[in-house]
Amino acid sequence: MREISYRFREGFDAVRIVFIVSVAGFVLELVFAVISHSMILITDAAHWAVDGALEFTTMMALYLVMKVLKRFSWGVLFFELVLALLVSAIVIGTYMVPFIDYINSYVTEPGVGVTTSNPFLALVSLIGGVLTFYAFSCLRKAYAETGLEILKVEYMHAAIDTIASALVTIGIIVTSLTQSKAVELLTIIASLFFMFHSVADIVEDSVKSLLGLNIDVELKYKLMTVLSERFGEGIKIRDVDVRKIGSFYITKVEIYVHPFTTIAKLHRMRLDIMKMFREVNKMIYHVDVIFYPDTEIKRRARSIKRRAEEKL
Ligand SMILES: [Zn+2]
Repeated sequence: MREISYRFREGFDAVRIVFIVSVAGFVLELVFAVISHSMILITDAAHWAVDGALEFTTMMALYLVMKVLKRFSWGVLFFELVLALLVSAIVIGTYMVPFIDYINSYVTEPGVGVTTSNPFLALVSLIGGVLTFYAFSCLRKAYAETGLEILKVEYMHAAIDTIASALVTIGIIVTSLTQSKAVELLTIIASLFFMFHSVADIVEDSVKSLLGLNIDVELKYKLMTVLSERFGEGIKIRDVDVRKIGSFYITKVEIYVHPFTTIAKLHRMRLDIMKMFREVNKMIYHVDVIFYPDTEIKRRARSIKRRAEEKL
């Protein structure tokens, strides 16, 4: 168990570094976007903001599963999903103001020049690209060490974003040198495409988790079968709950045990169940095990005792 929580810890540390890098990248792009009014940089800054929100949800999810022996906090998870949705909505809403302005002037005022006229602004997106590549290598290393699938999703995203940064950098250079409005618009649309890819991820994760669409019935019955095969008559299953968050599962098991079972034995059972579940599916990151005393056993025992006494 210590080994698995160590892996989560390592994954969490990697995503935390990447999150800090994202915040730095966002601030850098935002400052230069505001100073220069370059619509390409404004779009790129919005992309950084959304990615930051996405990394924050991943980081929080890892933080919550990291506490292997503590109960999984659904409240905190839901809170941070709502927060990520809210941040994305605010970013898109704020972005729409200059964007609509830009499209409007593009259509109605053909005489107005490009918003990205300084080729040195390419340095800003170049630094952003270097930061993204650093995030990519950080995440890929952490994935190689921990095998956590959630990190694979993250590093693939960072790889795609490194390409996005390169495109934006080229777009800034070409736009400012040629003063071509068409090139600028094309770069903005390409950048928007990458941003909406992140927004779609956040919305999908949040909506599924919030609406409870992420319940996996098939895996639930598989786990129930494994439980009864392993413990047989010794336990009675009250419920097994399996939910998918992003790329991994969180499970909750409620079982009735004999009321005289010792705590030491229950503790062993709990570790046993966690190990068994991970053998069934390695994407099961967290297992909450809750024990209830089987009062029927007690009642049955009492009635047997009573009958025995009556006979005497
Ligand atoms: Zn992205």
